[in-house]
Amino acid sequence: MTDITLKIREIAARLLENGQVQMFLGWEKGPEEHQTRPFIARRVEDVEKLVFNEYSIHNLANTLLKYRDGNEKIGIVAKGCDSRGIIRLLQDGQFQRERLYIVGVPCPGMKDPLQAVKNKSGFFPVAADSGLAAKCVNCIEPNPVIYDELIGEKETPRVQEGRFQQVQDIENMSVDERYRFFEDIFSRCIRCYACRQACVACNCRTCIFDEMKPQWVGRETSISDNFMYHLVRASHMAGRCVECGECERVCPVNIPLMLINQKLIKDVNTFFGPYEAGMAYTEGAKPPLSSYQENDPDNFL
Ligand code: SF4
Ligand code: SF4
Ligand code: SF4
Repeated sequence: MTDITLKIREIAARLLENGQVQMFLGWEKGPEEHQTRPFIARRVEDVEKLVFNEYSIHNLANTLLKYRDGNEKIGIVAKGCDSRGIIRLLQDGQFQRERLYIVGVPCPGMKDPLQAVKNKSGFFPVAADSGLAAKCVNCIEPNPVIYDELIGEKETPRVQEGRFQQVQDIENMSVDERYRFFEDIFSRCIRCYACRQACVACNCRTCIFDEMKPQWVGRETSISDNFMYHLVRASHMAGRCVECGECERVCPVNIPLMLINQKLIKDVNTFFGPYEAGMAYTEGAKPPLSSYQENDPDNFL
């Protein structure tokens, strides 16, 4: 990945130097051994800090939300999931295409930095560290789907034979079994909202969970309030989740949030599809549940 790093630095320097962008968003090496983190280069001198390595796992599109109200032009490196996140922002009207210069990088799959730290700590059973992060195992699109410039050769998407198998297994449970399953996992939720903060699709300016007057959802970590949080969030993600896996990756108590997202993806596909969120950008196009057609399925009403 050294070649990619060098190429990213070269492009960032060029864009900053000729004034095509005022900032360039990529990753830098963090202070810890396995840490790579989002970084913004604002001057040509900064570009030497940019890196692309096996831990460049964050979805950078989420960082764009901090700049949605500005007018700077921003250069951004985009793997497959970052690019789908960018499309999420464009479709949601949170960012304008003309403010972005997208440098696409086909993604070979990333490693999980937390797993690497655990392996090193000696406090946990050592898991295979050479494999991919969980979010990358089921990645259906490692290649950028929108870009102004592409670096490197396109990757072959991994085969997705068992993509919805776990969802199917849960669908096959009885209602009671399913309730107990979700009661067990949601009772662990500490309502830290890390999943919301990491999510590019959670981009409302005022979040229902922060509102105090009226307070729509209780703030206790009781099972009913936790269920409410996850049900509301899931309904807001239907047809909009770009499957970047960041919510699950950042959850401190390992709640399998991608199971919920995959159920939504599967159902949106079944009822409104075929449809995969964030796979293509057409100006003005909306996700299925953000538009209405007279022949939409409605026999559940
Ligand atoms: S989800 Fe796909 S594009 Fe994103 S880091 Fe993993 S393999 Fe790369
Ligand atoms: S990150 Fe995990 S613990 Fe925190 S609110 Fe989300 S699901 Fe709950
Ligand atoms: S819900 Fe999770 S997987 Fe979906 S877009 Fe948000 S962070 Fe990514």
